[in-house]
Amino acid sequence: MLNALTVDVEEWFHVCGVPSLEQAVWDRLPSRVELTTRLILDLCDRTDTRATFFVLGWIAERWPHLVAEIRSAGHQIGSHGHAHARAYDLGERRFAEDLRASITAIAAAGPRPACFRAPEWSINGRSLWALEALAREGMTVDASMAPVRIVGDVRFPRTPHVRTTASGSLTEVPPLVTDRFGQVMPIGWGWALRSSAPSAVLRTIEKTNQAGAPAVLTVHPWEIDPDPPRVALPLRLRFAHYYRLDGFSSRLRQILEGARFGSIDASLSSSAPVPSAS
Ligand SMILES: [Zn+2]
Repeated sequence: MLNALTVDVEEWFHVCGVPSLEQAVWDRLPSRVELTTRLILDLCDRTDTRATFFVLGWIAERWPHLVAEIRSAGHQIGSHGHAHARAYDLGERRFAEDLRASITAIAAAGPRPACFRAPEWSINGRSLWALEALAREGMTVDASMAPVRIVGDVRFPRTPHVRTTASGSLTEVPPLVTDRFGQVMPIGWGWALRSSAPSAVLRTIEKTNQAGAPAVLTVHPWEIDPDPPRVALPLRLRFAHYYRLDGFSSRLRQILEGARFGSIDASLSSSAPVPSAS
């Protein structure tokens, strides 16, 4: 079974809800995305891994050659929205506009994307209408619903499943979680992935595969920046963005060497047919 590696291609300053990092200042901040995305491409190359890269439309507009580079290295291209705004903050109409802007920008640089990841797992109980907007724009896969408290809902299925909307159905591909201390905890992304021992991540992946499902990991280019710019962030965001960045690149390499990973599409076609959400 092939697990899925996913990469959200964005800058270090694409953090939702921080007034000092609003879109008006983005073009004045130092860009790190070319360097750091190439570091991820290199890591994929060295570990013979293919991945799904969810590219922010704002990035595709400015660095179209980066989209082409990702594509020509054999990876799948998806959309991470256009201006890195949470679905529930945008509301239905602006979400659809932001989605279309991202598709236009990405399609100008490469193939039209058919898979999507919302910034900060923001498709949840407050924004399920977003799924219909995705289906309407031709998306067949969404990977935005985290089965954890705070950003998502522990009642969301933990394995790929079909969600039906009035505009068509799509396959929802959730990120890897684990049970710890009687709670559902993230382990496939963010501070939890960065701070877990590779052996612990690999054990969870193996358990998930034994239960018949692929594991989905998510990383960001800024997480392996050798010289990451920093700004003052509120505590929760500081943890999410800066905790255990040191050495993450080599831990990630051990994880990629310890299990088989591909794009979401390749992973779905390597595993059993996907059930519908109950
Ligand atoms: Zn993001």
